[in-house]
Amino acid sequence: MINIPKGTKDVLPSDSYKWQYVEDVARDVAKRFHLKEIRTPVFEHTELFLRGVGDTTDIVTKEMYTFKDKGDRSITLKPEGTAGAARSFIENGMKNGVLPVKMYYITPAFRYERPQAGRLREFHQFGVEIFGAKGAETDAEAIVTADTLLKSLSLNVKLYINSIGCPTCRAAYNKALKEFFAPHLEELCYDCKTRFEKNPLRLLDCKEENCKKINVAAPSILDYLCDDCFAHFEQLKTYLSLAGVEYEIDPRIVRGLDYYTRTVFEFVSTSIGAQGTVCAGGRYDGLIEELGGDSVPAVGFAAGLERLLIVMEQTGVTIPETSAPTVYLAGMDDACRKKAFELACALRKAGVSSEVDHLERSIKAQFKYADKIGAKYVVVIGGNELESGVANVKSMATGESESVAFTQAVAYFQGKQGTL
Ligand code: ATP
Ligand code: MG
Repeated sequence: MINIPKGTKDVLPSDSYKWQYVEDVARDVAKRFHLKEIRTPVFEHTELFLRGVGDTTDIVTKEMYTFKDKGDRSITLKPEGTAGAARSFIENGMKNGVLPVKMYYITPAFRYERPQAGRLREFHQFGVEIFGAKGAETDAEAIVTADTLLKSLSLNVKLYINSIGCPTCRAAYNKALKEFFAPHLEELCYDCKTRFEKNPLRLLDCKEENCKKINVAAPSILDYLCDDCFAHFEQLKTYLSLAGVEYEIDPRIVRGLDYYTRTVFEFVSTSIGAQGTVCAGGRYDGLIEELGGDSVPAVGFAAGLERLLIVMEQTGVTIPETSAPTVYLAGMDDACRKKAFELACALRKAGVSSEVDHLERSIKAQFKYADKIGAKYVVVIGGNELESGVANVKSMATGESESVAFTQAVAYFQGKQGTL
């Protein structure tokens, strides 16, 4: 027996409607915000993530699925969606087209992590990238897009925002952070000792309890913002208020990825504990240049679909099951079953979802099956029906029946579909 790899999950046919629902809502929200879909490969050259995610991040130092292909190239399964989208933006010269480029993706992502609830090795993200606009209204638009998605899914989440400034103000802040953490260096975890040297800002992102305790008293980045970054943050707040989106400022949010500048944000579920961050993002004006393109501002976010679904489940959000067939056609004997098959073909051709028996069941068992799969109507075809060309259509919801001629069946059920 071969088992599924650790940290991965099947989406079973009985559950896939939940995923489709979330994806449909995400695509609808994307459309409302004039975002177009981008699809990039599941694997890229490893170099892309080393540069585009950053070599001091957890992702790059510990979590990537990297391997040599048969041509001896170093390949990595995408651990997130932004780097691929940015590579494509540069490679396809999108900078010279219509700006800004507003896009979204729905993609699997791969990280070698310790699997837990809401933390998998293969997971899925809905993400948004807006390239070519530097104003705070675009940061706000990205946040409002995420907020609209979460509200459309009836999720109760809290938005936290922060600004981590630009390289100029961050130099002063990093210095202050180092001064603050220096006396605690021995108490910090192994990773934080490296962060202290390489990227002090990321000390604030540590998930170890002891490091978190020390972090509480750390200086706030907001006291170190330069005038431009301060003004940008103020503008962001104004635009969020115009959108009617509530937020809380949390100066300790820094995000795991290296390429962020200015705005960072997280949407955190109030109903689940440890893996409560369902959506995270921010501005990354340095990314395109880091990847070899001309300087182009960028802002975006990614939401984890598994985490969205967990929160929806835990808070009792019901997801409509849309995969039940409209009609089940039961056939008594061989000739009747052939008629049922023929009618089902005609109905399906006309866009009416229909099902027939595939297991030579008795009529009684077929009724049971129709009920189990949630068919809205059942048509029973026996010898009399075959002869008269008229059958009884039973509504499973009301128990009421109506006579319908075979020749009228398509029109009859097309009419019903609209009212379901
Ligand atoms: P965390 O702090 O929880 O590790 P992260 O900062 O690594 O998250 P991002 O890289 O910002 O996460 O990814 C965006 C979103 O993708 C997260 O908010 C989360 O919803 C989801 N996500 C990230 N890693 C995983 C994972 N291993 N399994 C499931 N979902 C994930
Ligand atoms: Mg992580």
